[in-house]
Amino acid sequence: HSSRVEGVDKNVWVEFTQLAADYKAVNLGQGFPDFSPPKFIQEAFCSAVMGGPEMHQYTRAFGHPHLVKSLATFFTRIVGHEIDPLEDILVTVGAYQALFCAFQALVDEGDEVIIVEPFFDCYQPMVRMAGGKAVYVPLRPRSENKAVLSSADWVLSSEELASKITPRTKAIVINTPNNPLGKVYKKEELQEIADVCIKNDLLCISDEVYEWLTYDGAKHVKIASLPGMWERTITVGSAGKTFSATGWKVGWAISSDHIIKHMKTLHQNSVYHCATAAQEAVACGFDREYEVFGTPESYFQQLPAMLHDKRKKLSTCLESVGLKPILPEGGYFMVADISTLDLDLKDQGSKEEEYDFKFVKWLIREKGLATIPVSAFYSPEHQKDFNKYIRFCFVKEDSTLDAAVEILRKWR
Ligand code: PMP
Ligand code: GLN
Repeated sequence: HSSRVEGVDKNVWVEFTQLAADYKAVNLGQGFPDFSPPKFIQEAFCSAVMGGPEMHQYTRAFGHPHLVKSLATFFTRIVGHEIDPLEDILVTVGAYQALFCAFQALVDEGDEVIIVEPFFDCYQPMVRMAGGKAVYVPLRPRSENKAVLSSADWVLSSEELASKITPRTKAIVINTPNNPLGKVYKKEELQEIADVCIKNDLLCISDEVYEWLTYDGAKHVKIASLPGMWERTITVGSAGKTFSATGWKVGWAISSDHIIKHMKTLHQNSVYHCATAAQEAVACGFDREYEVFGTPESYFQQLPAMLHDKRKKLSTCLESVGLKPILPEGGYFMVADISTLDLDLKDQGSKEEEYDFKFVKWLIREKGLATIPVSAFYSPEHQKDFNKYIRFCFVKEDSTLDAAVEILRKWR
C-alpha cells in the first residue's frame, strides 16, 4: 500500500453506522433524515429518469449545464457576486468530493492547513492524503465556570488563530453551521477570520452544507460575501443536506475561476462527473426555490421550522434525564455533556479507547440507542479533553425521536 493510506484507515461513520445496524438501534447517530425529501424534488427526479435518453448518459464533466446555471443564478443573489456558471462552479459527488478536490488541488506537500476544532472528521485525513499538515485551533467555551447552554458560547480567539500562522500556512477550514456543535458564526466572527486570511494571503475552505438550517433567528453568513474574500474562498455545499436527500450525493464547490480551474483538473482525472439525473433533479429544486425564496412555501424555511420543533423535543428530553445539551444554533446535531452520568466503563473495550467511544458502544449494545462520540471530531492531541460529550442527530421522524426519548427515560 501507499504511504498516503497509512494512519487514516479508521472511520467513525463506518464503525458506528455498522454497529447501529447490527444492534438494530434507534439511530440518532450518522447524520441523515429518516424522512423523504420534499415532493417537488422527488417528482423532479422521477421526471428526469423518465425523460429523454440524455438523462441516462454522461453530461458535462464539471456540472450538468442546467445545474450549474441554477446554482449560479441562485447563489449570485446570496453571495452578492456575479457567479459564472461555467467558470466558478464545480459539481461533485457530494460535499465530500468537493472537499477532496479542494485539498488535492490546492494543498502541496508540507503545506499547513488550519482546522477549527471540533471539525467534521474528514478534513484531517484529506489534508494528510494531500501531503499537508493539519494545524488545529479550538473553539472554546466562552466561560469555564458558567454552564454552556448554547453553541454560541463556543468561540474562536482570533489571536490564537493568528498565532498558528507560519510561512507554510496555506488555508483555513471553517464549517458553519458547524458539525457537531451547531455553531453558526456571526458576521463579526467571520470578519475576524477573513482579516487573518487577507493579511496572510490564505485560502478559506468554507463548508456550508447546513446553510439553510438555522434556528431561533441565527443567520447564516457566507464568508465569501465579505470584502476581499470571494477571490480566496472555496464555498462547499450539498444537495443532500439542502433537500434532505443525502443518498443522491450531489455537492458543489463555488469559488473564483482561478481556483475552480485547478479543482476541475483533479475532478476530470478522477471522478469526471456525477449522476446526470440527480443533477437535473437538484437543478429543478433550485429553480423552484429561486421562485419562492423568502416565502413560507420555500423548503429553506419549512425544513428549519420543522427541525426547530424536533430540536426542542430532544433538548427537553435530554434535560429531563439529566444530560446537559448544548443548544445548537444550526445544523443537524445536538451535543450533550455526559460527564454527570459517571458510568464505570473501565472494563469495556480497549484501554486506549476514549470514554465517549466506550459510552456510545455501551449505549448501542445495552440500550439500543445510537449516537456519535464527540472526540471523533477532535485531533488526536485534543481528544482527551473532549471525551465526555456525545452527539445526537435530530433530523428524524417524530416516531424515531419518541423511541429515543422512551429509551432515555426508562434508563434514567
Ligand atoms: N461537510 C459536513 C460538515 C458534513 O456534515 C457532511 C456530511 N453530510 C459533509 C460535508 C459531506 O456531505 P455529502 O454527504 O454531500 O458528501
Ligand atoms: N455528515 C454526516 C454526519 O456527520 C454523515 C457523514 C458520513 O456518513 N460519512 O453524521
